[in-house]
Amino acid sequence: MYEQTELFPKEKSAALMPSSTSWNLWHGCKKCSPGCWHCYVYRRDAEFGRDSSIVRRTKAFRKPVQKYRTGPHKGEYKYPAGSVFLTCFTSDFFIEEADEWRPEAWEIMRERSDCSFYMITKRPERILQSLPADWGAGYPNVEICCTCENQRMADKRLPVFLELPLPNKSIIHEPMLEKINIRPYLEKYGAHINSVSCGGESGPDARICDYGWVLDSHMQCVEYGVPFSFHQTGARLRRGTKIYEIPREHQHEQAHKTHLDYNGVTLPAWDYLTE
Ligand code: SF4
Repeated sequence: MYEQTELFPKEKSAALMPSSTSWNLWHGCKKCSPGCWHCYVYRRDAEFGRDSSIVRRTKAFRKPVQKYRTGPHKGEYKYPAGSVFLTCFTSDFFIEEADEWRPEAWEIMRERSDCSFYMITKRPERILQSLPADWGAGYPNVEICCTCENQRMADKRLPVFLELPLPNKSIIHEPMLEKINIRPYLEKYGAHINSVSCGGESGPDARICDYGWVLDSHMQCVEYGVPFSFHQTGARLRRGTKIYEIPREHQHEQAHKTHLDYNGVTLPAWDYLTE
């Protein structure tokens, strides 16, 4: 039924990835919406017989402030200034079960104001109550992204999320499950949205992502001058009448080759609009 192939021919060099490291300070989560159905945390934990619904603090909790204890760099941070920490990718930073640990996490982010912290949440309604007392207009080194996998979640989460005092906020449609219209939000808040990003679902039971949905999101962003990226194709991408089954290792590369990424300023070449 699926065509095992690549949509776009191979390029000689892959896109450069920014230097970053994961910071999974707690692990485990509770499923809260359709985007969670095939959560990779649950999938991976199942392989080891672990219960993903139990949220536990990890040994990596203080990773950004770890220092060398011996040697020529003794006393220096192990992660240099400019490091980007992909925060809480095996949980949700704003999950209730982590309320008692979060103040210490904010302290670490404050101490490492020379580094950036990037986190994704499906719980924007819990952000305001979870911010530290000295948040003010926000820590400039923290970017918070809200995931909206379908129209219902976009209309539920974005009105809350986009009103929050967050200096760096982005929207993610991943796994993208249908065409999503966020024009009203882009019109009202576009100048304060860092980017919109789309991506398909991964894993053996991945639901189909339609290239037309991604293209439509791209067009919305171009209309309102908001940066856009097609992050990854997911395992099953439909384009026209064909469904492409794309191996994990090619999903980012294949999305990149669609040339849908948009910086919010330069109008893209429109040649991708022709099938
Ligand atoms: S919020 Fe994210 S980490 Fe938590 S269950 Fe859903 S997909 Fe998994």
